[in-house]
Amino acid sequence: MKIIDGSQGEGGGQILRSTLALSMCTGTPVRIDNIRAGRRKSGLLRQHLACVRASKEISNAKVTGDELGSSTVEFRPGDIQAGTYDFAIGSAGSTSLLFQTVLPALLMADNESTVSFSGGTHNDLAPSFDFIKHCFIPALKTINLGVKAELEAYGFMPNGGGKWTATIQPINGMGVFDMTSVGKFETKQAVVTQSGLSKSVAERELARVKKKLQWADHELHINQVESIGPGNIISLRVSDGNISEVIDVVGAKQLSAERVAGRAIAAMKRYLASGAAVGEYLCDQLLLPLALGNGGRFTTIEPSLHTRTNIDVIKMFLDCEIVTKSLGDDLFELSVKV
Ligand code: ATP
Repeated sequence: MKIIDGSQGEGGGQILRSTLALSMCTGTPVRIDNIRAGRRKSGLLRQHLACVRASKEISNAKVTGDELGSSTVEFRPGDIQAGTYDFAIGSAGSTSLLFQTVLPALLMADNESTVSFSGGTHNDLAPSFDFIKHCFIPALKTINLGVKAELEAYGFMPNGGGKWTATIQPINGMGVFDMTSVGKFETKQAVVTQSGLSKSVAERELARVKKKLQWADHELHINQVESIGPGNIISLRVSDGNISEVIDVVGAKQLSAERVAGRAIAAMKRYLASGAAVGEYLCDQLLLPLALGNGGRFTTIEPSLHTRTNIDVIKMFLDCEIVTKSLGDDLFELSVKV
């Protein structure tokens, strides 16, 4: 049994999720200790427990320690089973992170899977549904991975109530990811999605984008939606037709609309100024599919602690070489050789 220390590096939930995915894909029994020891409230929260239980279901695993608050989980995977699944977080926790936990295994299954997720769809500190749909999935498509995502209901913190479905095709000839340069970003969109809040909040956020990024009126959109609780998220999206970047910032009560927009604008400016193809979050999320597949290389901004921790976890399971090379101030090349 492989022992993984959940307190290493970032010490967050990603170590657990990557470990579960790698355990299932390689058929390796694992014990994860010190789960989320780097976080204020350590151990399994509802969304992490949902990841353990969903992984157990799709891989017929034998599991101990799958309880709320648990800091150790033993996970012995069996055969991965494609099928129709319905996974509920049981809180407003991120459904996208649950999706990313089961995705690699279901890509390796021998049939299509249809998986429904309920919980939060537009969370802070996690990929939003829109990030998954407009950034992560298009990146996977460039290496011939077939995943579709359809949203049925929006779920914001703390009420949740979101629902969406992913259709996952088994791998059928995976490409090598190659994204070392960017073209002109012909497509730009600023989208404010919100529920239960005055339209003026979205208008103030978009006014900021217009002023600071000089994006045109037709590139600014308000998406007023229904949800069981209030919520606001600004999403700045650019695409050169090949690579897409989506930068999301979730609104919060104590933050003015201008500050919410300001954070997204600063992150977009940093990305555009760097000349990198892959943004901070896509970078750490791509590593697992590339390392389990045929590898690749891409330019990115300075790798986060998240990325570095994910690299360490991947290397504990796979005999692959992941190299980070500095190309300038805030420009790096990351290559995954399998
Ligand atoms: P924790 O253990 O920190 O409570 P967690 O289980 O939510 O939390 P982390 O280890 O922090 O997990 O991992 C968060 C994941 O969410 C990472 O893969 C990161 O790339 C992704 N992420 C965070 N913020 C964004 C964002 N704004 N856009 C896209 N992805 C994001």
